[in-house]
Amino acid sequence: MLRLDDRHLLGALDELAGIGAIEGGGCARLALTDEDRLGRDLVVGWMKELGLDIRIDAIGNVIGLRAGRENLPPVMTGSHIDTVRTGGRYDGNYGVLAGLEVVRALNEARIVTRRPIAVAFFTNEEGARFQPDMMGSLVYAGGVGLNEAYAATDKEGVSVGDELRRIGYLGATKPGALKPHAFLELHIEQGPILDEEKVRIGVVESVQGISWIEYTVTGVSNHAGTTPMRLRRDAGYLAASVNVFARKLAQEIGGNQVATVGALSLRPNLINVVPNRAVFAVDLRNTDEAKLKQAETRVAAHIAEVAKAERVDVDAKVLARFEPVIFDSSLVDRVEHHAKALSLSTRRMPSGAGHDAQMMQRICPTAMIFVPSVAGLSHNVKEHTEAADLAAGAQILANLMLELAEE
Ligand SMILES: [Zn+2]
Repeated sequence: MLRLDDRHLLGALDELAGIGAIEGGGCARLALTDEDRLGRDLVVGWMKELGLDIRIDAIGNVIGLRAGRENLPPVMTGSHIDTVRTGGRYDGNYGVLAGLEVVRALNEARIVTRRPIAVAFFTNEEGARFQPDMMGSLVYAGGVGLNEAYAATDKEGVSVGDELRRIGYLGATKPGALKPHAFLELHIEQGPILDEEKVRIGVVESVQGISWIEYTVTGVSNHAGTTPMRLRRDAGYLAASVNVFARKLAQEIGGNQVATVGALSLRPNLINVVPNRAVFAVDLRNTDEAKLKQAETRVAAHIAEVAKAERVDVDAKVLARFEPVIFDSSLVDRVEHHAKALSLSTRRMPSGAGHDAQMMQRICPTAMIFVPSVAGLSHNVKEHTEAADLAAGAQILANLMLELAEE
């Protein structure tokens, strides 16, 4: 068995977390900022030390390639090293650095695998600065064109294309040129389930589909004391009713349906004025596309009904829409098998968050390995995973990659 050096992995996580470090132990390395560039430079330096052949593609994805005995499609692992503004040190980084530890172990054992091994980090997974999120892997999988991705701008109007050039990561390779034999992503769960149930390894079967729709409601402002209820055209009333409806709908659909109204603004937002404008977004997620569509349809029908009764106008804008992704079932089985072979407890589960792996499933068999997040905290400086769990996840990754690389 290929033995991973977990002390080396912990040290690398520590060193990378030192770039863009923020109070409390977290990091802020927003995509394509100077901090992101420094993080990229550090990891690329490590890739070079390990003897990997570095390829930077035209969306800034970085792939480190270790040659195999034969020139076949590689076994690839990877994730991202950008973070949100209040990010933790494990989200994304863990999967990339664990991949490098697999390479280190292969180098030390002087093993040359049949297939090449590739370790990748993808540009702008978080989507905190530029939308859409998972941008690098989405471009890699052919889901969005380069020009569209380059044109995305941040709040200051700075574009992805300009920032890639500025930080020196606008590469020459065509994204997606290397089509893997299989792709594995090792990641922290970012939710509470494994920690609550005291299970060591999450065997990820799917990623939830996601629907973000922003609604703008226009009514009429009027005096809160003198306007009889029957004459009101209250934009805020519709927004409130959608929030209540969405909660009941999620409970009624059941399973893993979730529904959230997390952003809401009213105008003029005064205690004694009926609001004439409400802007809110509905976030719906499910692993079942038919149920997700049903939820979208029912929210829309509810909005139309209340809008008619209240005599307000509604505009809808789709901010994001990704269908649920089902990972390759035989690869998922193999993740479970390798976890059990190490006597680790497992649980099959969907991913509540989006990941680069869901884009890679479009072009090759893909699976994910989850390790517990203490108290389910992520996108938070307190994000933490126990060292033993980090080591266990990395060992499963190593064992499965080695097996895949010989077939
Ligand atoms: Zn992540």
